[in-house]
Amino acid sequence: MATRQLTVDRERSTERIGRDVETLSGPRYTSSDEAIRRYAYTPEYRNTLDYFIRELESLGFERYEDPVGTLVARNRPRGEPVFGVGSHCDSNRNGGRYDGTLGVVAALEICRLNEELGLGLPLQLVSFLEEEGSGFGQMLLGSRIMAGRVTEEELREGFRAVDDGRSFWEHAEEAGYDPGRWQESARVLDDLYGWIELHIEQARVLQDTQKRIGVVDAIAGYVHSDVTVHGRSDHAGATPMGLRLDAGLVAAECMLKLERLAKAAGEGTVGTVGELALTPNLINAVPGTARFSLDVRGPNEEAFRRVTRNLAAFAEEAARRRGMTAEYRERQALSPVALSGGIVGALQAAAEGSGEPFVRMHSGAAHDTMSIAGRVPSAMVFVPCRDGISHSPEEEADPADAALGAEIMLNAINTLSAGTR
Ligand SMILES: [Zn+2]
Repeated sequence: MATRQLTVDRERSTERIGRDVETLSGPRYTSSDEAIRRYAYTPEYRNTLDYFIRELESLGFERYEDPVGTLVARNRPRGEPVFGVGSHCDSNRNGGRYDGTLGVVAALEICRLNEELGLGLPLQLVSFLEEEGSGFGQMLLGSRIMAGRVTEEELREGFRAVDDGRSFWEHAEEAGYDPGRWQESARVLDDLYGWIELHIEQARVLQDTQKRIGVVDAIAGYVHSDVTVHGRSDHAGATPMGLRLDAGLVAAECMLKLERLAKAAGEGTVGTVGELALTPNLINAVPGTARFSLDVRGPNEEAFRRVTRNLAAFAEEAARRRGMTAEYRERQALSPVALSGGIVGALQAAAEGSGEPFVRMHSGAAHDTMSIAGRVPSAMVFVPCRDGISHSPEEEADPADAALGAEIMLNAINTLSAGTR
């Protein structure tokens, strides 16, 4: 099903994408002088949606917002099949100009190119509400609502605004939406025969390997848990080394063991102890208890689950050898999401056709695409961000890479749509 490579003026795309990003980092679009800060139902968020709406309407797209405020724009009437592109345009509270927004801008550029090149591809752009959780502390909120992965109780009562503690429901109504119809949000996906989201990588794999594009074929899952080691707190001066039950030493052994287990597991598995709490946490006391967190992730569930199980068993054994006990408790887990082979294949072929360096990879971070991949064949495209920095005003990405990403996505969509028209 090879279709001819489309000729795209990359410089013009780069210029337009750069201008969009520049505009959307202006004072009308952020509530902070030092960073990009915008989240659901704020004036700067509204201004951002209105910017995209103006641009899309000038291309002849019809737009609507779902019952909670996810923006949808399409160039075919509802009921006709379309290919979906987009991301989110809310930001971290102390965020940068590229995380999410670059994906919506790249999607807009695809809509422009479709028009300019007279391709006639049926497209739907989506900008998901509240991906970062800055407004209500809930990540991927808009796409989880769309996927039905929330309860009405959570929307009415459970999810509360970080700023004023009032409910999500109340804020949504105040902004003019109809949260009582939240289940209809799922209909946004009804006509989609495919979906691609472009996003900055948020790591340094692309930069360090000098690639301009990552074709993402899976999104990692994770286990979050705690291990607590029970020893005995004693005086650090008066207690000889042979008479101690130092819980901190078991934690130290476990941290090194986790590194070995994750490395041995391969397949993109990573393991981190990010929190370590010693009690009583005093310079002159032997730690009586040690609690540490585990964050174990990867695209292969069997692999990261095995690392976690083995670490839990090791902790018990290491504690027992020293005359102590350890207990393991899981906080939360999320399964990895495999993306669509058909769409990944089309992206890979388009990336090869572009002549630019690219790599197939998985995403270590969560994205809205996770929420919808169960219903719509989906994939993602990553572009490099400088030094892997994200969620910071220091965030930097090259509009030329996003333009290349848009071109590759357009080619892939063109190929995938050939059979449907
Ligand atoms: Zn993002």
